[in-house]
Amino acid sequence: MNKINLKRLSYKELSDFVAQMDGRPYRAKQMAAWIFLRGVCQFGQMTDIPLQFREKLDTMAYIGCVSEKSRQVSTDGTVKFLFALQDGLTVESVLISEGARRTLCVSTQVGCKLACAFCLTGASGFTRDLDAAEIVDQVIRARELSDEKKITNLVLMGMGEPLDNFDKVIHALKLVTDPEYQLVGVRKITVSTVGLAPGIERLGRELPKVKLAVSLNAGDDATRERIMPITKKYPMDALAKALAVYPLPQGRRITLEYVLLKGVNDEKKDAEGLSRFAKKFPSKINLIPFNQTAGIPFARPDIEDVRRFKGWLVEKNHTVMIRDSKGADILAACGQLAGDKWSGGKT
Ligand code: SAH
Repeated sequence: MNKINLKRLSYKELSDFVAQMDGRPYRAKQMAAWIFLRGVCQFGQMTDIPLQFREKLDTMAYIGCVSEKSRQVSTDGTVKFLFALQDGLTVESVLISEGARRTLCVSTQVGCKLACAFCLTGASGFTRDLDAAEIVDQVIRARELSDEKKITNLVLMGMGEPLDNFDKVIHALKLVTDPEYQLVGVRKITVSTVGLAPGIERLGRELPKVKLAVSLNAGDDATRERIMPITKKYPMDALAKALAVYPLPQGRRITLEYVLLKGVNDEKKDAEGLSRFAKKFPSKINLIPFNQTAGIPFARPDIEDVRRFKGWLVEKNHTVMIRDSKGADILAACGQLAGDKWSGGKT
């Protein structure tokens, strides 16, 4: 018999499963706390559950967990976890502290299919999708392993393209926001995508309350196609159309992420193209100066050029932030995650 992974179950499903096994009504609550809050991986650790019941559970179910393989701490306090999956593959998650906020950046795939020219994950190719439990467990594990045991915000900006693993990602987000588990609030979650138009449309239908960020990175199709091959399939016009009809909650805007690459997309004409695109729907712009990584042939513009680029956008009345990437010294910044394939033997 195939054992059930309890970490894939909603609270309702977990309760039904426990009820079937003659569990008492409060058992499901106890087990939910052990699995999703305390993050235990063995029934043996559930000390307030009778031994007999635990033994029965063992024959029918298991708790899928990722395990910490290594951890690096940046001088700015950012922590990068390398997690091993059951099959030995690895993904990275990054915990960023800013004031009271604890933001966890999780991976959704081992590798990525999209091959953006500036991204290290893209350079490592695609291995497989993560399943819902593997995504959720990055949250549970990182919280357990962190000093303050809290995660206030969740961003799907680690390895992989969330909307290319749509069903598992939605399943994971439903678990994370299950009212009985309450790992992270739905309004504190951001899905970041290269802009898969049909996935954006589906996300709007299925989970409109999560925040949406789109990695635009260029002001016109020709430039974008050079650095993001997916542009061939979904040109900027098609993307803008999907974003213009996205069912944004009142007052909410779509974030446009824009990685600044020296001499590639940092001229005035690029800012103008970005501005035209951004005016088609409620938006704000996050500029991310390129994080340099060995083997990736791009450079970060000088800070004056970053400010000049921001100025062009501000002149056109956009809300613009320059994202100071955290954790660059431990390759934990945007676009520097690649599991243990590229970590230079540090793990
Ligand atoms: N596939 C999703 C999420 C992962 S990438 C997406 O593309 O949105 C998360 C963000 O990091 C994206 O905005 C991406 O453009 C950016 N990024 C990738 N490589 C980078 C690098 N080397 N420096 C700075 N940002 C980078």
